Formats: sequence, C-alpha cells, structure tokens
Amino acid sequence: MTARCLRAALLLAAVPAVAAGAVTLALRTGHRRLHADRHRIELTPQPRRSCPDCWGDGGWWVDGAHPEMEACGCWANRPTWRVRLLPVPAWSAEPPF
Ligand SMILES: [Zn+2]
Repeated sequence: MTARCLRAALLLAAVPAVAAGAVTLALRTGHRRLHADRHRIELTPQPRRSCPDCWGDGGWWVDGAHPEMEACGCWANRPTWRVRLLPVPAWSAEPPF
C-alpha cells in the first residue's frame, strides 16, 4: 500500500456515514483500485504496467482445445484488502442523566 492509498483510505474512513450516504467512490491509484461506499472500503490489486510478463494486460491467453486467459501473478497473487463499515447505532432520545 502506498502512502497515497493509505491517506485516501483514512480520509474516507473519517467521513461520517451520514455524509457518505449513497455516495460510491472508485479510484485507481498506483497498483490498487480503491472502492468505497457506505458498506465497505476495498483496495483491489491491479496489473502492473511495468510487469515484464503481461505489461499491464493482467494475463495472457493459453492455447489449447479450450483457450482461456491465465492471470498474471503481478496482481492475482496479491490480496484484496477490505474494511467493512458497521452501521452507526441510533441515538437514544432519552437525556444522558
Ligand atoms: Zn503482470
């Protein structure tokens, strides 16, 4: 995680759930894609443009009777980081004392 991604994730975590509301945010920074909505903040790995195997395509086609795409290890072997956002409990109408 780069410092820029960490700052963006912390900034989004600081936004109150009420203000976030129905806002969904998706950014692509560095080698991860940031997705944030009212339920979660998620950082998904992306293919690296500097990868010598796929050059940012994310994989390659494998020939054979059933051609299929093989994912490159530059993104497929990295984990997705997800933070679930819990709902804010309702405020009590009673006075605190
Ligand atoms: Zn690659």
